[in-house]
Amino acid sequence: MIDLKQYEIWFVTGSQHLYGSQTLAQVESQAREIATALDRAHEIPVPIVFKPVLTTPEAIQALCLEANNTPKCIGLIAWMHTFSPAKMWIGGLNVLKKPLLHLHTQYNRAIPWATIDMDFMNLNQSAHGDREFGFMTARLRLGHKVVAGHWQDVPTLLLLGAWARTAAAWADWQGMKIARFGDNMRDVAVTEGDKVRAQIAFGYDVYGYGVGDLVQMVNAVGEDEVDTLVKAYLDEYKVAPELLPNGARHASLRYEARVEIGLRRFLEQGNFKAFTDTFEDLHGLQQLPGLAVQRLMRDGYGFGAEGDWKTAALVRAMKVMSAGLFGGASFMEDYTYHFDVENNAAVLGAHMLEICPSIAEPSVKPHLVIAPLSIGGKADPVRLVFNARAGAAIVASIVDLGQRFRMVANGVNVISLPAVMPHLPVARALWRPRPNFPVAAAAWIYAGGAHHTCLSYAVTEEHLRDFANMAGIEFLMIDMETDLEAFREKLRWNEVYYHLKTGMAC
Ligand code: MN
Repeated sequence: MIDLKQYEIWFVTGSQHLYGSQTLAQVESQAREIATALDRAHEIPVPIVFKPVLTTPEAIQALCLEANNTPKCIGLIAWMHTFSPAKMWIGGLNVLKKPLLHLHTQYNRAIPWATIDMDFMNLNQSAHGDREFGFMTARLRLGHKVVAGHWQDVPTLLLLGAWARTAAAWADWQGMKIARFGDNMRDVAVTEGDKVRAQIAFGYDVYGYGVGDLVQMVNAVGEDEVDTLVKAYLDEYKVAPELLPNGARHASLRYEARVEIGLRRFLEQGNFKAFTDTFEDLHGLQQLPGLAVQRLMRDGYGFGAEGDWKTAALVRAMKVMSAGLFGGASFMEDYTYHFDVENNAAVLGAHMLEICPSIAEPSVKPHLVIAPLSIGGKADPVRLVFNARAGAAIVASIVDLGQRFRMVANGVNVISLPAVMPHLPVARALWRPRPNFPVAAAAWIYAGGAHHTCLSYAVTEEHLRDFANMAGIEFLMIDMETDLEAFREKLRWNEVYYHLKTGMAC
């Protein structure tokens, strides 16, 4: 359900008329060559579309307005091949609503020592042309991104690719609908938030539903549809004997299939990309959806438990950012600790049920089991149990601080489980936070980071930083370089900056 090829990013080159038509023709053909190379680069998953060289304020503004009004255009890459006097860009940049990346590169890689002359110097001017443009983007206080490097170098392409993925996730949020079944888990603070401010800041809309609306759709599912889905479960998973067709609890598996079909239908019919539920509001459902939620997440839906719409939106965004990359993304919760190393600890992440199988060890079939939920007093839910694979990953959270939002992320190393846990009937990930537990956990708590997160192996700090930039919100990264006292200072300074930045704005 996530297709990054549906979008485009426009490659925009700035110049001016002073150089004459011959130079401008060269500018155009070289810019076209760069745009084509970026379009073909496998590091950049979104198509790059060449746009004619811009040399007047009118043309610049017209292009920016056209970008705003073109839904599939998710951002602009701007490059000043030659000098492009930047007052020409004020009108356009002032109206531009799409994310902007300033690519600071040069067509020519090496200086041709033996032949360099003033014609060469007149053409290859981005060293100062891009600085003129950079002054204007700084003067306008744009929340854009700058990437500097040769356009054929892999590190440059990777930065462009990360930004392109982030721009796709940002575009995906604009007008996104989130279905919220029931309200918030009673009394919980961090999952609450200002949905109006979120819609203004992030572009998505949270639609509340009574769980009865979902129940109606679940109950309308036909037995033949349930038969087909149950067969798929039996193929795909290692199913507990009691859930098999002749097992004592097979009816629970059939019921979960019914819930999956009903829930999927509800989301498809309403054009929702993410959803939440809560175990405190299940009237008319026999059990909290488990397997159904896990499979919907695997297919690209964002999810947040206990009414957590902010995390549901973030899970969806991180699924878009990581589409097609190795390593999944899942709703996650810091559950319990393992203090096996002095002054350090590993975190066992899990949830009551809803961990996405996209992060599972690929070599092992997930187990499909049934067990009590131990909370909520409903029937026992069916769920997939698996271990997350070992590897470097990131966990991220967005919290509502009252006047604004903050994103907090932590680099983690997911490790292999040192032992089997035969009595724990939920999917789980064990990780060591970077730089270590005392710093990472204290920093996270000082920042007010939530217990609900999204964990991903494919999303990086680069993606999340770009994303927070596009949203204009604070981004705090906790990783190898984090010093706890410097981090606390940053919290204080950021408080002042964002207070001033927000001002009278909404
Ligand atoms: Mn939870």
